[in-house]
Amino acid sequence: MKIICIGRNYIDHAKELNNKIPEKPMFFLKPETSLLLKNRPFYYPDFSKEIHYETEIVIKINKLGKHIEEQFAHRYYSEIGLGIDFTARDLQKECKTKGHPWEIAKAFEHSAPISETFVNKENLPDNINFKLELNGKTVQNGYTKDMIFSVDKIISYVSKFFTLKIGDLIFTGTPAGVGEVQIGDNLKGYMEGKLMFNFDIK
Ligand code: ZN
Repeated sequence: MKIICIGRNYIDHAKELNNKIPEKPMFFLKPETSLLLKNRPFYYPDFSKEIHYETEIVIKINKLGKHIEEQFAHRYYSEIGLGIDFTARDLQKECKTKGHPWEIAKAFEHSAPISETFVNKENLPDNINFKLELNGKTVQNGYTKDMIFSVDKIISYVSKFFTLKIGDLIFTGTPAGVGEVQIGDNLKGYMEGKLMFNFDIK
């Protein structure tokens, strides 16, 4: 399986990192080894001094497809979860400056914690609320209506380049409020008020 992550999909977040609002979806990949499951702790890696959380709605692909038209994209997923796109911001800044690929900053071990549960989209509103609590304090609070590119647009665009396979995950971008984690922190993610993940930084 593969993990596809959309960058800069919320205007407020693009602005907070001084990025331009994109005209097309911008994406990158994480390998399967970046998954962190079952609320296991995240061990702060020694290659970075600035690990940021980015809380994102995660779409699970349930049907094989390529060149999917936007109007049919909804047939390719039924379950939605919540995850974090951990980013080594210091390394990412260096990659951006040098024009290098982002993998060392984005695709490292356990950089993609995801919720154990995924919820059927039939049981969720069109405009999904999601939030992150850092040590009990809300630091991100987003709504999917604020996405620049909708899930259907993303599926259509990405499937021009890759075949989407059953079990592939799409991280749909983060709203404003990204920030650093420290050893000892606790992260709780909520979707429509339901606790989706709860784990510690060690
Ligand atoms: Zn992200």
